[in-house]
Amino acid sequence: MNMPNDTRSRSVDVVVIGAGFAGVYAVHRLSSRGLSVRGFEAGSDVGGTWYWNRYPGARCDVESLDYSFGFSDKIQQNWDWGHRYSFQPSIHQYISYVADETGARSLIEFETSVVSQSYDAQTQHWTVKTDKGELITCRYCVMATGNLTAPLYPDMTGLDTYAGEKYHSSRWPKEPTDFTGKRVAIFGTGASGVQIIPEVAKEASKLYVFQRTANFSLPARNRPLTSAEIETVRKHYPELRDKARQHVFGIHSTPEPTRSVLELSEEETIEQFEKFWEIGGSLTFQMAFTDFMRDERANKRLADFVRSKIRQTVNDRKTAEALCPNDHPIGAKRICIDTGYFETYNLPQVELINLRERPVVRITPKGIETKEGLLEVDVIIFATGFDAITGAVTRIDITGRNGLKLAQKWSERPAAYMGIAVANFPNMFVITGPGSPSVKSNMVTSIEQHVELIDDIIGYMQKHGLGAVDADEEAENDWVDYVNEVANKTLFVKSDSWYNGANVPGKARNFVPFVGGVNTYRLALEAMMQNNLKGFIKEPLINQS
Ligand code: FAD
Ligand code: NAP
Repeated sequence: MNMPNDTRSRSVDVVVIGAGFAGVYAVHRLSSRGLSVRGFEAGSDVGGTWYWNRYPGARCDVESLDYSFGFSDKIQQNWDWGHRYSFQPSIHQYISYVADETGARSLIEFETSVVSQSYDAQTQHWTVKTDKGELITCRYCVMATGNLTAPLYPDMTGLDTYAGEKYHSSRWPKEPTDFTGKRVAIFGTGASGVQIIPEVAKEASKLYVFQRTANFSLPARNRPLTSAEIETVRKHYPELRDKARQHVFGIHSTPEPTRSVLELSEEETIEQFEKFWEIGGSLTFQMAFTDFMRDERANKRLADFVRSKIRQTVNDRKTAEALCPNDHPIGAKRICIDTGYFETYNLPQVELINLRERPVVRITPKGIETKEGLLEVDVIIFATGFDAITGAVTRIDITGRNGLKLAQKWSERPAAYMGIAVANFPNMFVITGPGSPSVKSNMVTSIEQHVELIDDIIGYMQKHGLGAVDADEEAENDWVDYVNEVANKTLFVKSDSWYNGANVPGKARNFVPFVGGVNTYRLALEAMMQNNLKGFIKEPLINQS
């Protein structure tokens, strides 16, 4: 329950915006340092991604024993994960448990959005404004607003005239949905669509899947964890978490690759791939060889294998061909993992509509008109993704030094020094920001790393009597150039995706995440800290008295 505003201080050390994994840990960590902290969250509970994305079939794609916090041994010893890839309700319950156990929940105000924040260089303070009209001043702003938070709705003619039920995967209602006997249309075959489609197909009398781009998906082979697996990990959690922190992707469950797939003959390759296919998951494949994302021949071996599996699974030849991705290297868009996705297309009530051949003309009150006629539907589901990475931050009106607007600064190139601090926006830290490993890693490992880095930076500032730190523009530019240089050596850049803003009409194209690995990135951060916040402009504390 929200505390009335007048019992809360209007001047605090830190404002944390967002209460997903990042916000909950940031509130806990920084309040444990003795700082006064207020958290704000637009939703009515903690959880972030796992609060909003409550669609049928939602689960993680990094194994739960990795996709969880390592900062507290008590928490990891007390929590029981049921499945290899946990379902949304379990992950939501877990974050809720962490928020209660750490006391973070009591410092967060729910159903409260931050709408603007502006920096005053004279006082070295930010003024943050909420949608309730409250103004709060603070020295530090922590943007825990998430990379996949701002939903994207397609701009379709007539959408507002549609009279049936409408859902977006990331704004799913809290009340259970029931599609039994209903005619349903779904747009989007990314990771969300791939999880929703098999579940909705079980209930709907008719399911039309509107596909624009076919996507690679691998079987998750999700299953309950055995007590032996849980116990082994529990016993060794400290070493395993440490291993994850030093790992290229931030996980302990799958070792890093050491050899090229091109060292294997075609037959040996297939034999290996078949083994991984049975084990399930995408990291099983992605961590097996060094060169899937570096060499087109290596990539093609895997892509051909997955296409052959799609053709073996889907009975109708035309549908199978339409489901075979052929316009991007496998892995250049996030590889989906699924439970019976391709098998779903063998059900008589499921029909794939290939938007490349049969585009939507308009939405009408009764359904979807394609160039071949009207398809009447009772429900439309949008699994159409997000204005990713920068969207949640730029939807806040943020003003830095000299009236500079963040949305304007990022309109050409979303730059952040070391992926966390933005030049001319002092004392503002963006958790898993542009130019950090973020969405190209196990995000919980990366979130912990950033929260701990912010804590270290503030610790340094306190020790040295600093009132503000601001990323140096030249250092920021050098970092972004380096991020681009690393990405340009890989196949990650060879697709249109939310990684480079291509999914948002009008958004400038930049490949944003750092793909050099969590381990390399960790070394860069350590060097920056050891060199006295190298790349930051350090300002002494201005005496306010
Ligand atoms: P979020 O969880 O997105 O939380 C941000 C919060 O900030 C939101 O609750 C939002 O309401 C709030 N907020 C934003 N703006 C404001 C504002 N102005 N005022 C107030 N509140 C605001 N990553 C993985 O590594 N592995 C996975 O398996 C995985 N699965 C995913 C599945 C789905 C369906 C999605 C969408 C993403 C998945 N991700 C996964 C990425 C996932 O987003 C991160 O792993 C992680 O949950 C992000 O946590 P966060 O706290 O940084 O952000
Ligand atoms: P997404 O990957 O961006 O996919 C959006 C889908 O909607 C794409 O198929 C896209 O087609 C389609 N689309 C968008 N606009 C459209 C339009 N106007 N008409 C028709 N189709 C349209 O979004 P997402 O599936 O929500 O996933 C986003 C990210 O969240 C994932 O990459 C992943 O990181 C994370 N996630 C993870 C899991 C998990 O397994 N744990 C589950 C869900 C999400 P185009 O490809 O042609 O643009």
